[in-house]
Amino acid sequence: MTQPTKQFASHADVEEKQVSFVKLSDNAYAYTAEGDPNTGIIIGDDAVMVIDTQATPVMAQDVIRRIREVTDKPIKYVVLSHYHAVRVLGASAYAPEQVIASRDTYDLIVERGEQDKASEIGRFPRLFRNVESVPAGLTWPTITFQGAMSIWLGRLEVQLLQLGRGHTKGDTVAWLPEQKILFSGDLVEFDATPYAGDAYFEDWPQTLDNIARLEPRALVPGRGAALTTPESVAQGLAGTRAFIADLHASVKAGVAAGKDLNAVYKDTFAVMKQKYGHWVIFDHCMPFDVTRCYDEVTQFRDPRVWTAERDQEMWRTLEG
Ligand SMILES: [Zn+2]
Repeated sequence: MTQPTKQFASHADVEEKQVSFVKLSDNAYAYTAEGDPNTGIIIGDDAVMVIDTQATPVMAQDVIRRIREVTDKPIKYVVLSHYHAVRVLGASAYAPEQVIASRDTYDLIVERGEQDKASEIGRFPRLFRNVESVPAGLTWPTITFQGAMSIWLGRLEVQLLQLGRGHTKGDTVAWLPEQKILFSGDLVEFDATPYAGDAYFEDWPQTLDNIARLEPRALVPGRGAALTTPESVAQGLAGTRAFIADLHASVKAGVAAGKDLNAVYKDTFAVMKQKYGHWVIFDHCMPFDVTRCYDEVTQFRDPRVWTAERDQEMWRTLEG
C-alpha cells in the first residue's frame, strides 16, 4: 500500500490534555479532558456506573483513580453510549458485572466492530498509545435493550434512552430523571467538532430536539467541558445542531449543483472553517463528515463501514 502524502490531521495532535473531574450532583460526575473523549460517572446507593470507558485500560485507570477519591462503592456497570473504539476499549479496566448497550449498538459491533477498532487505532495514535493494554477481541455487551430501560442503583433511577439516530444508529443517552442530568455521548459536543463519519444527518436534529425536551439542567457531552447550567446546555445543543445543519446544507447544495465529492469537500471545508475551525479535531473530522454526508445525500441511507484502508484512500482523495 502506498503511504498517504499527508498524515491524518490527528497524527499532528500530540499534546497532553488537562483532565477535569467535575461534580454535577452527589451522584453524578464528569471526567473531561479539553476535547478528548469524556467519561460519565453515576454513583448510586450500592454501585457505580461508568458511561463510556476511555480508549484503553491504561487510560481508564486514571478514571478509576478519580472515582476512588470520591467513593469506594463497586463499579458494577459500564454503559456504552455507542460502539466507537475510542470509548469502548478501556472497558476491561473496570471489571464490571455488566456492560450495557442498545441492541442497535450491539448489531454495529457485530457488523463493523473489528474494522472500526483497526481504523480508529490508526486515526488516533495519542489516544491509543497504550493500545497493548487492550485485551484481544472486542468488548461485548452483556445486556442489550431497545428504546429504553431503567437501572436502579439502590433508590437512584438511571434511564438509558435511545432518543433517535444521530452520531450513530445506536446512540444511547443516560438520564437521571430526578436530578435532570444527562450524559449524551457524542450526540452533543461542546467546543469540539462533531465526528459524523457514521452519522445520520437527516435524523440528528430531531434527536437533539428530543434531548432538549427532557430539559436537562446539566449535560455531559461526548467531548468538551461539562455543561452545568440550563443556559450552557442550550448552547451545547444549539452549537451541535448548527454544525450538523450547516454541513448538511452545504453538501446538499453542492450535490444539487452536480459537483463531485472533491469539489463539495473543498467548498464545505471553506464555509465551515470560518465558523467552526477553532473547535478541536476540526481538520481531522471534516473529511470523514463530508464523505459520510455526501454518501447520505446521494445514495447510502446507512453509513458504509470504515476500514483502515478506506480511511487512507479517502484521505488521499480529499487531502492528498
Ligand atoms: Zn463516537
